[in-house]
Amino acid sequence: MEEQPYIEKIEVNVEKISLYNPKYGDERVCQCGHPYRRHFDPYEHNEAVGCKYCDCMEFVEAKATDIIPREKLAEIGADIRNKLGPLANLIVLIERYKISENEKEADALWKYIEKEIEQCKISINYIKKLL
Ligand SMILES: [Zn+2]
Ligand SMILES: [Zn+2]
Repeated sequence: MEEQPYIEKIEVNVEKISLYNPKYGDERVCQCGHPYRRHFDPYEHNEAVGCKYCDCMEFVEAKATDIIPREKLAEIGADIRNKLGPLANLIVLIERYKISENEKEADALWKYIEKEIEQCKISINYIKKLL
């Protein structure tokens, strides 16, 4: 067989590429603070190209503690504990009411209970809208 100028060799390059997952959730937030969708390039077949707003190359979902600063979390915690006050008071009042010894005492306690119920409603609505 006559010798050829080139020896032919077939090489297959296997490359793993990361693509956008439409089912993951565009609104999820990365540790870099930017949304999931921003880590992909729609002009490059939705390849993971890194965050378009910063140099973050890998999307890692942020935890609530990453998004809300520590001081703010402490503030929210204190706020919630404060708003639980009326609920704790209500329990104490109801427990006292159950063991009240006469009608006069029971009536007085009931008035406090009604007031505390209104405070509880306010607290519950406040906590519902907190975050
Ligand atoms: Zn990121
Ligand atoms: Zn980013």
